Amino acid sequence: MTTWHGRNITVAGLGVSGISAARALAGLGASVTVVDGGDSETHRLRATELRGEGISVRLADAATLPEGTDLVVTSPGWKPESPLFAAAAEAGVDVVGDVEIAWQLRGTTPSGKPAAPWLAITGTNGKTTTTQMLASILTAAGLRTAAVGNIGTPIIDVVLAEEPYDVLAVELSSYQLHWAPSLRAHSAAVLNLAPDHLDWHGSMEAYAADKGRIYEGNSVACVYNVADPATEDLVREADVEEGCRAIGFTLATPGPSQLGVVDGILVDRAFVTNRQKQAQELAEVADINPPAPHNIANALAAAALARAYGVEPSAVRDGLRAFRPDAHRIEHVADVGGVAYIDDSKATNTHAAQASLAAYESIVWIAGGLAKGATFDELVAGAAGHLRGVVLIGAERALIAEALARHAPEVPVVDLDRTDTGAMSAAVREAAGLAKPGDTVLMAPACASMDMFANYNKRGEAFADAVRELAAESQ
Ligand code: ADP
Repeated sequence: MTTWHGRNITVAGLGVSGISAARALAGLGASVTVVDGGDSETHRLRATELRGEGISVRLADAATLPEGTDLVVTSPGWKPESPLFAAAAEAGVDVVGDVEIAWQLRGTTPSGKPAAPWLAITGTNGKTTTTQMLASILTAAGLRTAAVGNIGTPIIDVVLAEEPYDVLAVELSSYQLHWAPSLRAHSAAVLNLAPDHLDWHGSMEAYAADKGRIYEGNSVACVYNVADPATEDLVREADVEEGCRAIGFTLATPGPSQLGVVDGILVDRAFVTNRQKQAQELAEVADINPPAPHNIANALAAAALARAYGVEPSAVRDGLRAFRPDAHRIEHVADVGGVAYIDDSKATNTHAAQASLAAYESIVWIAGGLAKGATFDELVAGAAGHLRGVVLIGAERALIAEALARHAPEVPVVDLDRTDTGAMSAAVREAAGLAKPGDTVLMAPACASMDMFANYNKRGEAFADAVRELAAESQ
């Protein structure tokens, strides 16, 4: 087991995960320095608090490696080419992330109970939803669990918790995987793979390679998406433990070693005694909230991981029924004049927006924002048949307008030449004007929100406020 006592550790980043790592490592006797390029009021307050606990903090310099450092623990967002890491490489010092530290700290709880295995989830979209579905299923099975990783309580705090967990549902971003070389999950799933964060990883290959690390050393199951062959390729390339199985999930009828859907029922042909002849019913599509195609896929992935861990079918059903998605993920805000208003502000890239555009028949689509280098041709061409109309907002709306002109020239488009915060209210009104009873007004912008809002939550709230105003007026 790693000894932390007396080590000189530099923690990069004074955010939630950096603070958690610093405290945990200092608590184990390491000498910890937190470095951060910022020097704001918040930074200083946090620094004062940590210094009071015997942790050194250096603000306004994120580049130089503190003298004597023998390990760097980075926060997930720091880019691999950060000068601090170049300095570490030059000094022969390893750089790892908080997830790696959590992995190494597992099992150090005083209770004597063996460390909780990790069921890990990554993918371009659907990670949080699937991780929470999995935690809900594990809870329904009577297990003590938590949804952690990219969400919830810092993962280091969870592995060091006084009252130990039975099993953890762990959401891992590509960044976290990049910095977690020794992680070995019990079982893991890659939900899908589409270009995202390429500025951070440098290329699609590098991004995929980091995602694929989640399968390394899996002991029971590597879960992949049958509809996304790139995820299966990653399974094939992974070095897993003897006996570990590749398990597919599909929205179609499942083959052997797959979970899928038959006549509105989620079925398991993987974790049954005779997978050639037998299929185990798990739940109904109607048990999933919301029952949109991409979310059924998420539920199947969560079910596969739970089944790999030995959870009974009835707990899969109960856990899915109990699950409620987080805000701004295909959230039904209100019906006004026979039109449903849906907030999918979390659709910050085209892959996510494509999933929600596929979930409704006739849509007035509110889109636009910061494109992050994306192109919209494929998205618009695929959705054209569902579009009643489009309202565009945000800095890079012209990119979407051009794609609409190419692939859906007959669809009416309102181009709101606005990036102020009040634009959302205007967009909702325009959308209401285009919609007919039975339609869905879907705010799934396919873009980041920071040109107009602090984050996607604020964008979603602005949409919901505007819809409520509309509802109040129409009474
Ligand atoms: P993540 O944690 O990966 O960002 P979330 O569960 O928060 O994923 O969902 C983000 C957005 O991605 C949602 O708003 C939804 O529109 C979309 N989404 C969710 N699951 C999927 C999926 N399996 N495939 C494509 N898009 C998805």
